[in-house]
Formats: sequence, C-alpha cells, structure tokens
Amino acid sequence: MISSFNPELLSFASRILEKQGGLVDYRKDQLFALLPQELARSLEIPEEGHIGGTDFPLIYGSPFLDRLIEKATQGVPIVYGQIELPYLKKAGFEQLIGRDLIFADGQIRIVSRAEARTTYMVLISHYLALSDERKEGLVRLTMHEESGSLIPDFEAHLPDFQVTFFEPGKIPPHFPVRLDKVVSLSFKKAQEVTEAELAEFFKSMERRLQRDIKNTREYFQSLEKEMKTALKTGRSEAHENERKAKIKALPQELARKIEDLQHKYQIQVTITGSAALRFLVPVVQLLLQIRYRKFERTARITWNPINRRLDPIICEQCSETIQAVYPWIKDSRIFLVCQSCSKRKNM
Ligand SMILES: [Zn+2]
Repeated sequence: MISSFNPELLSFASRILEKQGGLVDYRKDQLFALLPQELARSLEIPEEGHIGGTDFPLIYGSPFLDRLIEKATQGVPIVYGQIELPYLKKAGFEQLIGRDLIFADGQIRIVSRAEARTTYMVLISHYLALSDERKEGLVRLTMHEESGSLIPDFEAHLPDFQVTFFEPGKIPPHFPVRLDKVVSLSFKKAQEVTEAELAEFFKSMERRLQRDIKNTREYFQSLEKEMKTALKTGRSEAHENERKAKIKALPQELARKIEDLQHKYQIQVTITGSAALRFLVPVVQLLLQIRYRKFERTARITWNPINRRLDPIICEQCSETIQAVYPWIKDSRIFLVCQSCSKRKNM
C-alpha cells in the first residue's frame, strides 16, 4: 500500500474543511471528517469518513485534492500580466551562489544558462481575528508557481517594471493550470505570517484574560469573607444554612465565571484568499552540477530579474523555502534540503 501521508496537505485539507463548516479530527496520519451535506456533495466524498487514506488520498495530483483547491480558491479574482524587459543579465551568476543561495557543502558548478519564461503568483489573503476585539489585515506573498518557493521583495520591485495585463480569454498558455502545490504552500505560509502578525493581539487578549480572572478571583474572595462575617450575625438557623450553602457554592460559581471569561477572550482566526496576481516573467535558468561525497546530480535554479536575485529553492523533504541549502544523501542520491531536514538520519 502506498502511504499518502503528507502532513502539510493534511493540515491544508483540515483548514479548508473547517472553514467550510466541517468538523475535523486528526486520527493517526488521517483526518476524520464530519461534513455538511452540501460540502460533502461538492467534494464528492461521504459526509462522514476518513480522508488521507486509500479511498481519498491526499497527494498532489489526486482528483480529491484538486476539488479541495478549487473550493479554497473559489471566488478569488485572478489578474494575469506579463513583465516586459529590455534585456536579461548575461553573466556574473557565479558570484550570486554563496550570496543568494548558499550551499553548505559539496562542489557547485554552473554548467549552462538559458533564457526562459516562468510564472509567479502574488497571493493576497485577508485575515480576521475575532475575540473580545477584532483585528484584520492583509498578507501578501509571492510564490514561484512551478516550485512553490517564496520569493522575497518581488512586489516591492514590481513598480520598476512595465506590466502588460491580459484580457480574460486572451491569457497565454504559459501559466500552469495545476496550482495545487503553490496554493497549499501559500496558505500554509499565509497562516504563519498571520500568526506572527497577530502575536501581539494574542498576547494582549491573554493579558486581559489573566487580568479579568485575577479581578474575578479577588472579588469572590472578598465576597466569601463578607458572607462569612455576616454569618456570625445570622438571624435564624434557616437563614444561616442558606448563607452556608451560598458560601459552599462560591467556588463553582467562580469556575463558571472564569469559563465565561475564557470564552469571551477566545480567538477565532479565519484566513481567506482575496486576490491573486499572476505574472509571466522572463528569467535566466541556470543548470547546476552538484558533487557531494561520491555522488553527483544536477539542479535547475532561477535568476529573477525583478528582485535581481537567485530565487530560493524548496527543501526536497519538507517543502520549506530555503536559501541555505544542505546536501543530504538518501538511497544513494543527493537531496537538497533545509538545515533541520539535513540532520535527520536516513543514510
Ligand atoms: Zn526541510
């Protein structure tokens, strides 16, 4: 049996399903989902069942994942454009290796260079955090569509270039039709950026929660004290018993109040795609030869004329965007990975 376990796709699927009103639970390396009828029908899966196993595998290229991506990007307006460039850089790429892309080990040589065209996507997503207060904002990310790597400073340099926009129906075929990888990776990144931007908000809600809990506790303590003092001046036995019962019920009442506060300051975050800009860009593609220990391989990297840098690449194990590249041997092959994946023993 082929394992379809991919933690990144699993978490992408659970976010999309939850956003659409489904209930999702992690069960080992699968998801157990309870879905609204309409959602289940549109995804062509049962309302109740396991996702990520053999019946509904979550792998790139599976029809189920395609339908999920379509759901995630539904209604997001997409604009298509092309960057015009008078010329492309011809030489001096060697110096950029070690500056834009750092290879931690192995021998690297550029074996060929070719002018090509590739596509980038600027994905704009909107986040809304709801708690006792609300906070919202936009996250803008640029991804290389083919690899899914995150491109720094692309939008910042965009105004320096002439862009021609394509009219609907006149979009050239260079744009990849399949966007599963780039969309799932950018949603994951957008979530990370959102969490970082909301860090202060999370902290301030937590501070207010702790302050309110402290005040409530103090209030209950003084209430208890007062009631106990009043007990001594009780008028009748019935009256005294009633007071005692009230005092006894105080901890429970306090717990309920604290629960209410926790609920009040709970934070719900939703992230939705607002718009996507896709650009066809002339680039220089470099073919690298990599030698490490007794192994050898090639790799294609891209010089990006917009930020005038070599594009970062994707860790071949965890799909994280990386500029520091580590060679890692598995099954007698070199993989290009991030630092933390390079520490995994798998020789
Ligand atoms: Zn990695």
